Amino acid sequence: MRFYSTNKTSPSVSFREAVIKSLPEDKGLYFPEEVPELDFLFLETMDYYSKVDIGYEVLRHFCSEDIPEDKLREILEDALDFEIPLVKVSDDIYSLEMTHGPTYAFKDVGARFLARCLGYFNESNDDEVTILVATSGDTGGAVAAGFYDVPGVNVVILYPTGKVSELQEKQLTTLGKNIKALEVDGNFDDCQAMVKKAFLDKDITGKMNLSSANSISIARWLPQSIYYFWAYREAPKKRNLVVSVPSGNYGNLTAGLLAYKMGLQISRFIAASNVNDVVPRYLQSGSYEPKSTIHTLSNAMDIGDPSNYSRMQALFEEDYKEISGLISGYTLNDEQTLEVIKNCYAENDYILDPHGAIGYDALKKGLGKKETGIFIETAHYSKFLSTVNKALGKELPLPDFVSDLMKKEKEAVRIEADYEELKAVLLS
Ligand SMILES: *Cc1c(COP(=O)(O)O)cnc(C)c1O
Repeated sequence: MRFYSTNKTSPSVSFREAVIKSLPEDKGLYFPEEVPELDFLFLETMDYYSKVDIGYEVLRHFCSEDIPEDKLREILEDALDFEIPLVKVSDDIYSLEMTHGPTYAFKDVGARFLARCLGYFNESNDDEVTILVATSGDTGGAVAAGFYDVPGVNVVILYPTGKVSELQEKQLTTLGKNIKALEVDGNFDDCQAMVKKAFLDKDITGKMNLSSANSISIARWLPQSIYYFWAYREAPKKRNLVVSVPSGNYGNLTAGLLAYKMGLQISRFIAASNVNDVVPRYLQSGSYEPKSTIHTLSNAMDIGDPSNYSRMQALFEEDYKEISGLISGYTLNDEQTLEVIKNCYAENDYILDPHGAIGYDALKKGLGKKETGIFIETAHYSKFLSTVNKALGKELPLPDFVSDLMKKEKEAVRIEADYEELKAVLLS
């Protein structure tokens, strides 16, 4: 399989090159030249497949030329080494809990897959690779954990100061070793812009092997479609399935849409967003109008100009009619999000995090009589404990993994939202 740039001027590349380069020169995103249609028999008999088997069936089409079968299975076994349960919340609504990985968020899947792909591609190389990544919340923690202590790989993480939760910050700033955190005086869009600039700066790329771990990396994006197949496998009713995805940079939802295009029987999707609602507005009006970012309680979704919008367009060949027929938007503000967390706990004894809450509410409000809803619970609620406590009006006990992390010392280098400062750190 070859991967082209969504801006269509850079040449197409292999999976290996796309993973190592991460961003084409023309500033597009890599996208597969073809969307494989999965075998009917596989889709009908998925019940007999494990997570790793499903992952292999889905991903082999994209990377078999660069990763041999046994290696791909080994990478998947490692990357998917945690439970992904589908948990009943209310009558027709289920939570796909992506909260059981090492950093308690869905980003563990992509980050672990990418780390292991890069590790494999770099095995025969003496040069070190530097992973440069911007995070609005969970990416950094998942990447840091995924790459921690991987030989030959250094990680530099940019995060907006004051805009990630304390726990998320601890996950980025307490590992040490090959993981360096940069605390940026700015918002996520500033961080992302600085990272993108570094990838196109010959002073930097001439001196070091730079690689990305943002959701813009194809190796983070592709494996996310695996758990949509898994959700289907686990669903008690497989007809009229609606999947609601709390979204920010739109990698997760677009991976679900890829699964759909590969043949997965999902009847419709919901793009669940906070007040950073550029995609819901696009789905309504047909025009895409990025805005500056607004800070919310669901901070991992505080993105005003989502990168993966271009992949969504590529997947549907810019057919607005098809896109808006399959996906509907849903937007919730902070006050409503707190209400939803409170009510869901009172009604179902289920604790939502502020991101999952938006996905859940979209189903609660919009599910038709014959439909079954699945929302992606994108992170464990204890990562946002002060928000959840505020919503519930009580103090939930701190889980052990949180209290252990909170005791560790933060180590970060503070910089302005100025590209030259990033450059100085990278070249130092
Ligand atoms: C990253 C993240 C999101 C948004 O996912 P995208 O793929 O960027 O749309 C939602 N919730 C949580 C908890 C996240 O960490």
